[in-house]
Amino acid sequence: MSARFPSTRLRRLRRHESIRQMVKETSLTVNDLIYPLFVVPGKQIKKEMSSLPGQFHYSVDTVTEAAKEVAALGIPAVLIFGLPEKKSATGIESYHEQGIAQQAVKAIKQAVPNLTVITDVCLCSYTEHGHCGPIENHQDCFEVNNDLSLEIIAKMAVSHAKAGADIVAPSGMMDGMVFAIRQALDQAGYHSVAILSYSVKYASAFYGPFRLAADCAPSGGDRKGYQMDPANIREAWREAELDIEEGADMLMVKPALAYLDVIYSLKQRYPLPLAAYNVSGEYSMIKAAASQGLIDEKNAVMESLTAMKRAGADLIITYFAKEVASWIK
Ligand SMILES: [Zn+2]
Repeated sequence: MSARFPSTRLRRLRRHESIRQMVKETSLTVNDLIYPLFVVPGKQIKKEMSSLPGQFHYSVDTVTEAAKEVAALGIPAVLIFGLPEKKSATGIESYHEQGIAQQAVKAIKQAVPNLTVITDVCLCSYTEHGHCGPIENHQDCFEVNNDLSLEIIAKMAVSHAKAGADIVAPSGMMDGMVFAIRQALDQAGYHSVAILSYSVKYASAFYGPFRLAADCAPSGGDRKGYQMDPANIREAWREAELDIEEGADMLMVKPALAYLDVIYSLKQRYPLPLAAYNVSGEYSMIKAAASQGLIDEKNAVMESLTAMKRAGADLIITYFAKEVASWIK
């Protein structure tokens, strides 16, 4: 008998919902989700961000409530971004023991000890010029000083570990960042704090809403000198390989939707857990289209996130995490 039509009919396994559920190849679970939280100075603050509808700036005292809500939904982890009171040329506030991120981590670990706390480790919210490290020559170019940046982010990572962070996530695409952080953490006795590296972060147009949310838009120049060219994928393998050699525990691709081929190829090549960052532009596009009645929000979100998993992502950092968790339940 031939395996062709009409003896073979693939529609047999699509006939009704219970059969479709049985043959489903990819599923999204609440354990896949990581929820970003933005922390600002002050008290009793919960202020919606205009660029990210439904997302908020929290002060340290209110972020614990947000973290409890996340944990109650079964989401295993949050990713903390601190927006400091004071910025400087080199971003030294970033490793202050009483800094905004450090206070938030302490408060969340105290309020919800079982929630995994990941911290963003980068200087762009802490520098006056909004670049991811100190600038070499402010007058005529915006070249970030790579090695000076490493010294500062290593201290920042140690300060986060000291505050109680479980995982640190360097996002500045500096060469050697994973090695510098691993060495500093080990020397300070934080052997068990893991590193989730933003290994493959593209200079993307989809970060717009985040830059307003994290107050980190560069005041001049762009980030093409350190973030990757969207045209490249072999370079992504080199970035991932270096990070693995330097001691990364998990890798990340950012953004997600326009880079599913990159997620797929990293997953095929390397055995480390792989995260995808469903970025602010991807979020706000769906929100905007749904508010215009152009697409169904829930279906569009579930389809996008399932595609990230199908491509090979083990974890998804997403502003939709709370909604997805409640839909899955
Ligand atoms: Zn940065």
